[in-house]
Amino acid sequence: MSQETEHVKCLIIGSGPAGYTAAIYAARADLKPVLYTGMLSGGQLTQTTEVENYPGYPDGILGPEMMQNFEKQASRLGTDIRFGYVSSVDFASLPHKVVVDETKTILADTVIISTGASAKWLGLESEQKYNGFGVSACAVCDGFFFRGQDVAIVGAGDTAAEEATYLAKLCRKVYMIVRRDEFRASKAMVHRVLNTPNIEVIYNSETTEIVGDGQVVTGVKILNNQTNQDRLLDVNGFFVAIGHHPNTEIFRGWINMDETGYIITKPGSSETNIEGVFACGDAQDHIYRQAVTAAGSGCMAAIDAERYLAAKEHVVTA
Ligand code: NDP
Repeated sequence: MSQETEHVKCLIIGSGPAGYTAAIYAARADLKPVLYTGMLSGGQLTQTTEVENYPGYPDGILGPEMMQNFEKQASRLGTDIRFGYVSSVDFASLPHKVVVDETKTILADTVIISTGASAKWLGLESEQKYNGFGVSACAVCDGFFFRGQDVAIVGAGDTAAEEATYLAKLCRKVYMIVRRDEFRASKAMVHRVLNTPNIEVIYNSETTEIVGDGQVVTGVKILNNQTNQDRLLDVNGFFVAIGHHPNTEIFRGWINMDETGYIITKPGSSETNIEGVFACGDAQDHIYRQAVTAAGSGCMAAIDAERYLAAKEHVVTA
């Protein structure tokens, strides 16, 4: 049951690059944004190591440190940053109602959804142990660290196919571990994979363990689910590309989404189907999923929110 109520002009849900960038712009536009971080404060980048492709950091930066910088900047400009998670929403009327931690109701004139997405993992203990030390869920982010080395990637969808061909340009050899005897990816992507000489596709196989020396990955054990034969692949990198799930469950029934739960925004804008509710970052982008694109869309959402409020004010006072 809700106990407390507070009215805000701009509520931002989520604390990745999209949310903090929206906060920076909203604060500078005097929207006095309140941002709830969610359970993983700082988002997916807090679970990576070095970030080398975010412009403005010529020597690279650690993901957690970068997110601290985002937070500091948003805070310095006046964002009210709070730890807490949104437990439910009611977008039936204005202002929007958002319940935080199941106890507090925020009445918000505008809501910016930047709840991000989470990579799916296999669920192996060794996968968790070496996460960031050879195990990654993002080839574009981490492939560079394995230049000239051998790596493996698990998955058979478009993401895995795309990432395998990306890795093949950097690495000496890419093993692609496919659990069935066929791909899920589109024909064009499969064609590309099968025509890349340094990708070896291993069908009907499941990853059973990530092997390491206690510090970094040194290999991957796989099991052929047809023959029951084990095989050890000598690799330094292991990429998981078995899909992502957007963190949008609480908005289901209110906000238009595609079949996997990605929020649908009006093309070229961050507007959702609900007046005054905007979405940015990985919660609405299953294609690019980069920190810099998330930040860019966060900027769009804050500008859209500011213009929406300005237009409403204009109508009232005209
Ligand atoms: P998908 O859900 O399409 O594919 C996931 C893949 O991972 C499947 O091949 C699945 O195997 C495999 N998988 C799932 N769980 C496991 C597991 N535990 N062990 C081993 N393998 C597993 O996810 P994607 O991220 O590839 O794509 C998501 C969406 O984004 C799709 O609609 C895709 O088309 C789209 N996309 C489009 C791109 C483009 O157009 N350029 C690029 C990237 C994505 P199985 O097939 O056996 O179920």
